[in-house]
Amino acid sequence: MLTCTPSYALYLAESARNDGLNPRDFALSTVIIGAEPCTQPMREAIEAALDVTAVDIYGLSEIIGPGVSNECHEAQDGLHIWEDQFYPEVIDPATGEPLPEGEEGELVLTSLTKEALPIIRYRTGDLTTLNDEQCACRRTMVRMDNVTGRADDLLIVRGVNVYPSQIESVVLEFDDVLPHYRIDLEREGELDTIEITVELDEGFDGDRTTLENRIRERLQNVLTLSPDTLTLVDYGEIERTEVGKVKRVYDRR
Ligand SMILES: [Zn+2]
Repeated sequence: MLTCTPSYALYLAESARNDGLNPRDFALSTVIIGAEPCTQPMREAIEAALDVTAVDIYGLSEIIGPGVSNECHEAQDGLHIWEDQFYPEVIDPATGEPLPEGEEGELVLTSLTKEALPIIRYRTGDLTTLNDEQCACRRTMVRMDNVTGRADDLLIVRGVNVYPSQIESVVLEFDDVLPHYRIDLEREGELDTIEITVELDEGFDGDRTTLENRIRERLQNVLTLSPDTLTLVDYGEIERTEVGKVKRVYDRR
């Protein structure tokens, strides 16, 4: 068993290979990875490099650090929350109201057994979904999805709640659009305005107005949000990020 960050697991495997060792020969069966976001391709790379099952762990230092929930190696399908220790809820981050099971919202935790520093309905800021269906591993503790984003990311545009990730998933449905975009928010008088800029695939030679209308229609149907301006720009026109985190939202309200 090894517990570390995903990047460190890959670093260990690479270092071993550089020293002439085969990391797949190590007596390891399971790696618990945490503290960094881990995508499915990253997980598969760790499993292949070390010949292990890699499972995700979740926690936060305000509660106990890592160990609030953990994936099981049997299913690798959501993280079991230790409900004998923590009472989880998912709420609408805008209203604070609890959401029914299966709906995505902000994870709220209450500690049940901590004595010196109990935590009551602590808003984690992490967005997830709870799943109460019985797991293939037969454990009955509720599972949470991998954390998909932070509640702080929520944008309220003319009373409509929208996450940048929702806008991203709509615009990236279109084959002619690349995964480079930006969202600009301004306030004109009392009114919010939103501009979405998307980048076209290299060599796009279709009709821009038709594509623009299709994207607008999709945004309206899925998010009930119609941008004031939807700009399609040519390949390479949106600035790329080479260091640090990518910035896509420019909120100047
Ligand atoms: Zn399970």
